[in-house]
Amino acid sequence: MRAYSNAMRLGYKRIGFVPTMGYLHSGHISLLEKAKEKADVTVASIFVNPTQFAPNEDLSTYPRDAESDIKKLESADCDLLFMPEATEIYPKNYSTYVTVNKITELYEGAFRPTHFQGVATVVAKLFNIVLPDVAVFGQKDAQQVSVIKRMVADLNLDIQIVTSPTIREANGLAMSSRNVYLSQEEKEKATTIFQGLNLAKEVINKTNSIDAACKAFRSSIHTDFKIDYADIIDPDTFRFANNSSKNLLAIFAGKIGKTRLIDNMILR
Ligand code: AMP
Repeated sequence: MRAYSNAMRLGYKRIGFVPTMGYLHSGHISLLEKAKEKADVTVASIFVNPTQFAPNEDLSTYPRDAESDIKKLESADCDLLFMPEATEIYPKNYSTYVTVNKITELYEGAFRPTHFQGVATVVAKLFNIVLPDVAVFGQKDAQQVSVIKRMVADLNLDIQIVTSPTIREANGLAMSSRNVYLSQEEKEKATTIFQGLNLAKEVINKTNSIDAACKAFRSSIHTDFKIDYADIIDPDTFRFANNSSKNLLAIFAGKIGKTRLIDNMILR
């Protein structure tokens, strides 16, 4: 991987990087398209990162299909796929972790206390291996992008971080590798997330009331969901928004059956 990147850099080729956990869908491919706009060559990685899963989460059952992923990356003209083994990334006696504070205190950081440390650590490692000029992340994982941007700024990494919009199914459900866990009925119920996010936006535009928008948002979500959070936040801090918040983001996480889904929408 390094030999490729060093050769590209010697030839003044900009490297665009898309880190993923595989089981690729159109959302992932849209990140690759974005990377192509910003760089001369594109690298994707597939690595189901064990350190970002808690012991009670779905690491062992996380969907995998390397063969189909490779075909998709080939059709999308990805130049290189980096697909390391867990033992290469975390060899014996591995002891170093990257911790991003403050913006990780609430929401995904609160419901998955070790998650962002795992994400920041693996992304820092992948950046050091792939040596990209630009890396593309999905708006779908809004708090994750903020964590990565914070880490890159704080650690003086010379990498441009680009956020790419959420790709959805025709019915509004945000694409996710985890959607494969959903039954047809659960998929239909899950479309209420997108409906709720849209309603929150409508209410904000009409009334400018964060409370009213939040109430409308929460009451739209199908009652079969066990909601972790459905809030309107300030994306600059990842704390509940107030009237002086310049930007507003509606965020959702909840479980339907065995599947935990997250989604968000920029309101302002
Ligand atoms: P994952 O494979 O789930 O770790 O995701 C890899 C990258 O794809 C992350 O930057 C995600 O935010 C992004 N991503 C996942 N789903 C979508 C989607 N529906 N639209 C856009 N980007 C996505």
